[in-house]
This record gives sequence, structure tokens and C-alpha cells, in this order.
Amino acid sequence: MNCEIITIGDELLIGQVIDTNSSWMAARLNEIGVRVVQKTTVSDDPAHITEAIRRAETRAAVILMTGGLGPTKDDLTKDTLCRYFNTELVMNSKVEADLVSYFSARGRELTETNRKQAELPAACKPLYNKLGTAPGMLFEKDNRVYISLPGVPYEMKDIMTEQVIPLLKIKAGDIAIFHYTMMTIGVGESFLADLISDVESGLPPYIKLAYLPSPGMVRLRLSCYGSNEEKKLQVLDEVNKIKVLISKYIYGYNDETIEMVVGNLLREKGNTVSFAESCTGGYLSHLVTSIPGSSDYYIGSSISYANEVKSKFLGVDPEVIHEKGAVSEEVALAMAKGVRSKLGSTWAVSTTGVAGPGGGTPEKPVGTIWIGLDGPSGSFAKKFNFAGDRLRNIQLTGAFALNMLRKELIGERDN
Ligand code: ATP
Ligand code: MG
Repeated sequence: MNCEIITIGDELLIGQVIDTNSSWMAARLNEIGVRVVQKTTVSDDPAHITEAIRRAETRAAVILMTGGLGPTKDDLTKDTLCRYFNTELVMNSKVEADLVSYFSARGRELTETNRKQAELPAACKPLYNKLGTAPGMLFEKDNRVYISLPGVPYEMKDIMTEQVIPLLKIKAGDIAIFHYTMMTIGVGESFLADLISDVESGLPPYIKLAYLPSPGMVRLRLSCYGSNEEKKLQVLDEVNKIKVLISKYIYGYNDETIEMVVGNLLREKGNTVSFAESCTGGYLSHLVTSIPGSSDYYIGSSISYANEVKSKFLGVDPEVIHEKGAVSEEVALAMAKGVRSKLGSTWAVSTTGVAGPGGGTPEKPVGTIWIGLDGPSGSFAKKFNFAGDRLRNIQLTGAFALNMLRKELIGERDN
């Protein structure tokens, strides 16, 4: 079953907002065997929206749209669809009641502009929106399904997951796609490809291998279309062959994040962790606390950016900072030891480096980062040369710091 995604909004065309909706939707659709054949982005203009729908009809049985459902004058999708399907707006009492409780729960008055969001085209099936004010709409015509969703990503995702995907799954029939992903860290895409090239070239034609890189990591995904139990086992067999070749780079499976894996290891052991963050400025703590339940093992951190804070709070000897520089093995180690003894955590990890773009020297160019670790198994520090831009250097430091801790937790020191 073919699908086209139309994202609507002037903000997308001027580069003010990045269209993340369509890539998220495409990934979900792919999982249930719906093939996205085209993505189109148009302005908040009825003529452009109408033309995009007409063109999409020549390619797809499912047309998914996001954006332009809000109460403001620039949001024109609802009126345009109403005209397109030759129907009229009628007040939907359930949506109206939802709006009344949505606003009263927030102590806000329901204005007439907002009440208008409860008016829906008579011909549509409403897709209720429990996280926002604009409901989605579903139309059916000539064996095609047209679905319009709000542009706000978390509202769109909720309606997709709860209502649209289950419905399309039934329509698409059981195509049975089987995916298995190995999450790797600390190895480049091409190096990985060399390591597993024999397995890759021996894959049967119905099993596809994809390399999906992100800072410091590569997801290796095996997919099998039209899979049955036998083919599924064959995918797992290929996974096992690959695992043997790259086991030291695998930190998890099927979209597990490094922060999840580290969190689970800490919880299993009943251990705690704290960080002494300089160049990451709290990013490590953010990663770890993004995981629900992280209070089981994360106790707190010091964001010791200035040298004085490294000394005053963590007890790093100012002489050592002066002699070796803040970006040094000695300071990274002293920071980790300092925060561990101050906060009493089982483990401590520190980061200190030159994130850039300024501050680099010939000996310590931008991207030079030291990560320190202190814990029951001892202490050590490791130097990295990331040579990226500021954000990338910070992201890489976060990923590698967590991986250093993960390796230490499983008894495979990473130095
Ligand atoms: P609302 O009820 O909030 O007005 P809406 O359907 O009118 O919903 P828009 O006004 O088009 O949605 O967009 C709301 C916000 O959602 C935008 O400010 C933008 O940040 C975000 N957004 C819209 N389209 C996309 C997209 N394709 N990808 C990512 N974010 C988007
Ligand atoms: Mg808009």
C-alpha cells in the first residue's frame, strides 16, 4: 500500500522549523509495511494544498497530511479539506466538550476562536486529540484514505500511534516485516562495513542490511520483508554471525540507547553514579535523567566549568590545573575522584575538553577531550580527539563517557 506524506506550513518552507514529522511518520509506516512513495511540503495556501492532494492521488492510496489545523488565520488545512470534499463544517459536540475541559483544566477561558476548532467537516471521521486542541480528520473517497493531523509533533505522534497506525495496519494486511537492530558505539561506518563484509555479501536477497549513523554510534539494522518464522530465524542467524565479528562495539539491541543500557546495569548492581562535567555542561546528566526511573541510580553532579569551581567544589589542586592545564589527564582524574568523594556515589565520570570553536592550541586542538572515571575497580582517564564542531564534540563526549562507564560496569575496561 502506497502512501504520500504532505507537510503543510510556511514555517517549513522558510527553514524556520525542520520537518521532523514526515521522517518520524515514514519510519512508523515502514514498520507496518506501508510504503512512502513521496513526501511533499507546501505552504499554508489552499491552492497549493489542493494541488498537492490531487498529485498525491495519482501515486498513493493513503495521503497523510500534517499542519495547518490550528485556530489561527494562517492555518487553512481544515477549510481547504472541507471544500475539497464538498462538505460543510458542523459543530462536533464531543470535541467541544473536550475543548471545554482542556481549557478549564488549565484555568483558561475558552475563546470563540478556540471553540471553532470543534467545527469539523461533516464528511470526516474525527481523530480525537487528547494532548492538544485541534483534532485530526479522516476522509475516505474512491478507495483512498486522507488523514489530516496537527503539526505539533507530540500531538501528531500520539494520534498516529493510538489511532492511525492500528487502522492502517488492518488496511495494509499482514506484510510481516521483521527488523533486528544492533546498536554499536565507538566504530566508524566504513570500518564496521569492512569487519562484516563477508556476512554482508552472503546475505540472501530478502534480507537487507542498513547502516544508520549518529554521533559516535552506528545502528546496524537487518530487515526482512515478507517474513515468516523461518525467515525470522534466518535473520537471527545472520545477527549471530555479525555479533561474533563486532561484539566489542555492540552496546545494545533494537533502539536501546546507551543511557538506558548504563542505567539498567547500574540498577542491577544497586550502584549509583555522579558526574563532574566541564565541557559537557550538564549534557551527561541530561542524558541520564531523560530515562524514567533514573533516580534509582543517579544522585547528582557538579557542573564545574570554571577552574575555581573545579578547585573549590571538587578539590582539584590549582597547582595541577596551572601546570597541566584544565584539559589534562590529571585534572580529569581529580575531577572524577573529587565528585565521587563529595557525593558518595559508587561511580563517577568526569569530562574536560576543548569543545570549540575557540580555545584550541597546537597541543590541544578543538575536540581534545579527557574523560575520567573513578569507581570500585580503580580510576583511569582517556583522551579523545573528536575534531568536530561544538555540538558534535559535546554529543560525542556524552556518548563515549557513558560507554566508558558501561564497559567498566561489565568488566571490560575501555582504555
Ligand atoms: P495547532 O493546534 O498547534 O495550531 P497545527 O496543526 O495548526 O496545530 P501548525 O500550526 O501547522 O500546527 O504547527 C504547529 C507547530 O508544530 C509549529 O510551530 C511547528 O513548530 C510544529 N510543526 C509543524 N509542522 C511540523 C513538521 N512537519 N515537523 C516538525 N514540526 C512541525
Ligand atoms: Mg501552521
